[in-house]
Amino acid sequence: MKAVNHKLSRRSFLKAAGLAGTGSLLAPFYRPSNASETTAEMPLRPFGNTGIQVPILSFGGSLDTSLSMVVLRQAAKWGVTYWDTANTYMGGKSELGFGKYLQKYPQDRQKLFLVTKSHAWTLKGMSQDLDSSLARMQTDYIDLYFMHSVRRIGQLDDELKSWAEKKKAEGKIRLFGFSTHSNMEECMLGASRLGWIDGIMMTYNYRLMHTDDMRRAVDACARAGIGLTAMKTQGGGQVRTDSESELELAGKFLEKGYSDAQAKLKAVWDDPNIASICSEMPNMTILMANLAAAMDQTKLSADESALLQQYARETRSAYCAGCTDRCESAVAGNIPIGDVMRYLMYARSYGIPHRACRGFRKIPPDIQRQIAAADFSAAERRCPQQMPIGRLLREALVDFS
Ligand code: SF4
Repeated sequence: MKAVNHKLSRRSFLKAAGLAGTGSLLAPFYRPSNASETTAEMPLRPFGNTGIQVPILSFGGSLDTSLSMVVLRQAAKWGVTYWDTANTYMGGKSELGFGKYLQKYPQDRQKLFLVTKSHAWTLKGMSQDLDSSLARMQTDYIDLYFMHSVRRIGQLDDELKSWAEKKKAEGKIRLFGFSTHSNMEECMLGASRLGWIDGIMMTYNYRLMHTDDMRRAVDACARAGIGLTAMKTQGGGQVRTDSESELELAGKFLEKGYSDAQAKLKAVWDDPNIASICSEMPNMTILMANLAAAMDQTKLSADESALLQQYARETRSAYCAGCTDRCESAVAGNIPIGDVMRYLMYARSYGIPHRACRGFRKIPPDIQRQIAAADFSAAERRCPQQMPIGRLLREALVDFS
């Protein structure tokens, strides 16, 4: 019993110890006596062939940013000047928060690389969304405008190309691209052949970055000069895990003075084709931890990278890779398996169940009812991650509806 207690206590300590690692990594950067000053510089990388340099860490605004004025101010001062939002985030409160900031600090507009997205998927809807985003954010232009959550390369047609060119000519946007969570590799490969996509934001982390399909897609985009922004870099999944590798991982990184969360960021930055990591940073603690990781020059060792990959293999069935073409076509009806998996991730990995519920409740009631009765066995056979799809979707139905 004693041994068990000791093990639990060590496990609890390591899981809660992110700040301990953060503290030591922050030491060269953070000066508590005058937090607004620092001599360290945020590293920049080229955003594809656009000629624009962006900070390797960007502020993910999928929250009510009107409550984050202090964090935004400090982020801007510390060089986190790539800010990402979407027309739909928090029902518009995210864009309104950025607008509130720019109203207060209009001089910061020029140094910001401002990104927002439309989920409209129609040209008329996107035009309306773009105008409303400009008004909400109190700005004349968006640096990079995304069609949100693209699932198929066919969505990027010639009409959309003309729309993007027109909005650029009007001065409303400088660059155009898309975000993607589903069938990402196919969308990225297709985009690399189009010649008019400036940037892509995709799920990218230590779990996905080593697969052949993702490597091929990233290389093709890099050759095509498309700027790449990584999101969901912590690789949080749909099932809570508690493996021995996870414990070993946390302990090993703490010995080096940083947390496993910081190590996961470093794993992504190890890929020079990734221009920036978009991270939601709702408070100063996370902003400072991420900043410290960005400014620290220590790279992951081969052993540490191998440990991350081992952990990814061991917890594979807890993580949805977004290859929705494989599973969704194997189930009758139009059940959005990939979306539900994302909502589970918000609830179980990110600890934001309200976002999960909000997303899930947008699924039409008849489709929600199909989840309860559907046979997911064929989808599970096709799933490369060997996920218990049926069980997870029915858990989501109970948890969120
Ligand atoms: S549930 Fe499996 S097959 Fe479906 S998107 Fe996720 S990883 Fe791919």
